Order: sequence, then structure tokens, then C-alpha cells
Amino acid sequence: MSQSNTKNKLFAPITGTVMPRFAGIATFMRLPFLEFDHPSIDEVDIGLFGIPWDGGTTNRAGARHGPRQIRDLSTLARNVNRASGINPFELCNCADLGDTPVNPVDLEDTLARVQRFVEQLHEKNMIPLAAGGDHLVTLPVMRAIAKDRPVGMVHFDAHTDTWDRYFGGSKYTHGTPFRRAIEEGLLDPTRTIQIGIRGALYNDSENNWGIEQGIRVVDIDEYHALGTQGVIDLARQVVGTGPTYVSFDVDFLDPVYAPGTGTPEIGGATTYQAQQLLRGLQGLNLIGGDVVEVSPPFDPSGNTALVGMTMMFELLCVLAHARAQR
Ligand code: MN
Ligand code: MN
Repeated sequence: MSQSNTKNKLFAPITGTVMPRFAGIATFMRLPFLEFDHPSIDEVDIGLFGIPWDGGTTNRAGARHGPRQIRDLSTLARNVNRASGINPFELCNCADLGDTPVNPVDLEDTLARVQRFVEQLHEKNMIPLAAGGDHLVTLPVMRAIAKDRPVGMVHFDAHTDTWDRYFGGSKYTHGTPFRRAIEEGLLDPTRTIQIGIRGALYNDSENNWGIEQGIRVVDIDEYHALGTQGVIDLARQVVGTGPTYVSFDVDFLDPVYAPGTGTPEIGGATTYQAQQLLRGLQGLNLIGGDVVEVSPPFDPSGNTALVGMTMMFELLCVLAHARAQR
């Protein structure tokens, strides 16, 4: 089977019609694995990479194993998005850049290591597409790509992740990344929308901080009241034409679709609704994204990693379209 529909042959994903899906070394979307010293690294437009770390997890750990299992389930990926017609591999050179360095016994050292890795991508003008890891990993990604100006964000999650401190004084957990990102000037709260928020609260004022900063919080009840297209329209209005990051926590989905995650909340979105929402971001000025909180120890069937891989593909399609438009 020809792979001539890919822009550059080096960056062609391995097709399941040539090498069976169960064979070979697993990479994201069956793309080539390139390290930063590869002679063709400067030709990469979109870098996919893992952040195998869950040191920010406050309860059920395991997301450190996410990138490896998402790569395994990526063997089910194909090239063309049936709904949008986008073939991201035709629009852009994409590669698996491997995993960021991490230190499983030192949180702040890990944040620095992840940031440095993503800075290398950013210096090469690549778009980052990350697989977590727990949700704290988005903070060092933003420290790398948003230090020159704050970015907007479309955030899919059951939780706002704008809490302040845990366990007396800890500032860095997977429940705090977006409060830190706003405090550090990385994230513009007035260009941020959080979709799918639900679940019981620690106290009745818990969500107020983010709303006071200007975040548009769309809880699951408002999501259903507005409908998918209504939420897409609202998200596009909130983020506007400025640079926008997309962060997808798999606990946005109902746990019947994504049980393998650290903090499941019932009453969530379906996988089909999530696909429609991500496709609805086409045409925005997207500069990067991530899929986080896939936790293989709680995912015996592998289905949550399949869902995570598929959401990465949907994100890749809209990122590639945005990159090709620029
Ligand atoms: Mn989260
Ligand atoms: Mn969450």
C-alpha cells in the first residue's frame, strides 16, 4: 500500500496494511521515533511525546504508565479523520519524540526536566502534543511555551484543577496546575473555558476562585443545557483568535468510557460528544495540547488508553490543520 499521501516519507506512519498492528515497536500513531539529535529533527512540525509521571496525584496513582499504554493502543490508529477529512500526516510532519525525562522521587526536579524538554520543542517551532501523566504535567508544558505571553485554553475535565494547596501547604498537585499557571502569567483566565465540571465539592466556595479570575466554567448541567454545538460556539467565543492550548483530562468522560483514571466522576460526557467537541475546535489558533490522567493500573481492558489515543488523534487533526493554516 502506498504511503504517498504523507508529505515526507520519513514521517509516514506505519500502515496496518503493510506491517500488522501487533508487530513492531509501539510509537504514538505508529510514527517514527526521533530524538533531538536526529538530522531531520528540524523538519518536525508536531512533536508527540509522553510525560510518564504521576507525582502530583493526590489519590489513585498510575498515570505514569499512561504514555506506554497509549503507544500500545496507538497501533489501532489510521491516517484520515472520517468526520473532518483531515489527514494530519499529509498536512504536517509528525514524530514521536519519546518521553520527557522525569524523576519519580522529586516533584520540582521533574517539573524542571519536563519544562526543559518542551523548551527544546518550542525552540524548534514545533507544536507539542503530550500524553500524561497526571494533570500537573500541563504546568511545565505551559512554562515552556507560554513564557512570552499568556495563552488561552479549552480545558475538558470533571474538575477545575484550580485549587490552591493540598495537605497543609503543597502548591504542586494535579488539582492545582491552572491556579499556578494563572498566578505565573502563563494562562489568561479571560480566554479560558473549562467544560464538563462536576462532582461533589470540598466546600461550597471551592469553584469561586477561577470564576473570579474570569474563567468561563461550563459545568456538566450547563453543557447539556447548551448542547454540544452551543458549547463549541461558546468556546470559540471565549478563546477568540489568540494562541490557545487544549488540555483533555480523560475524567471529562463518564467512567463507563474511561474507568482507568485517578479521579473518576460519574455523569460525564460520552466519547462521541468528546470527539464532536474536539472537531469543533478546527480553525482556532491552536498551539499545543495534551491528554492526561490515563491510568493503566485501573484500566484492565486497555479501553481508557484506546480512548486516550483516539482523543490524541482528534487533537492532532485540529492542531495539524491550525499549523497548516499559519
Ligand atoms: Mn484534571
Ligand atoms: Mn479531572
